[in-house]
Amino acid sequence: MLFAHDTEAALIAAAALVNTAGDEEGLPDLAALDAFLDAHRFTGSRTRTEAELRAVRQLRPRLRRLWDSGEDEVVAIVNGLLREYEALPQLVRHGDWPYHLHATPANAPLAARMAVEAAMAFIDVVRGGELGRLRACEFPGCGNVVVDLSKNRSKRFCDAGCGNRAAVSAYRARKAAARQ
Ligand SMILES: [Zn+2]
Ligand SMILES: [Zn+2]
Repeated sequence: MLFAHDTEAALIAAAALVNTAGDEEGLPDLAALDAFLDAHRFTGSRTRTEAELRAVRQLRPRLRRLWDSGEDEVVAIVNGLLREYEALPQLVRHGDWPYHLHATPANAPLAARMAVEAAMAFIDVVRGGELGRLRACEFPGCGNVVVDLSKNRSKRFCDAGCGNRAAVSAYRARKAAARQ
């Protein structure tokens, strides 16, 4: 494992959250938010209101900048989020998770918890000198973000099906070339 388990889970969740802001709204309603949170095993209090959904959507462009910025700006964003939400790291254990870091109380607003969790994960990425693992999907026209946690830094496509799409187009290109 490259990072601690909670860091990796948080990075994957942050990328998935950013990628819900594509051409098609990936978080159209509270049910979609529920499904997202279940998939990424988020715990803690919820209000299940439109305001909560809106706050989570509004977090996406801020997190997107973590992918699109150079190191110094990433650091400024991370430090800004930690200050803004008064992050206080604590080791906690709940459910079947082993000890991991929470830096906001379980009753902090959902968007605040998601923001701080992402910021905490980026601390490890910056300290490890691994920002190069955060990239844009290479599939033409995709625009999603990628977290490459692979050993050999080989992940080029996002998790929204671009790997398959790229394999299909490469196959078609080979077939077309063979016909000529
Ligand atoms: Zn937890
Ligand atoms: Zn993609």
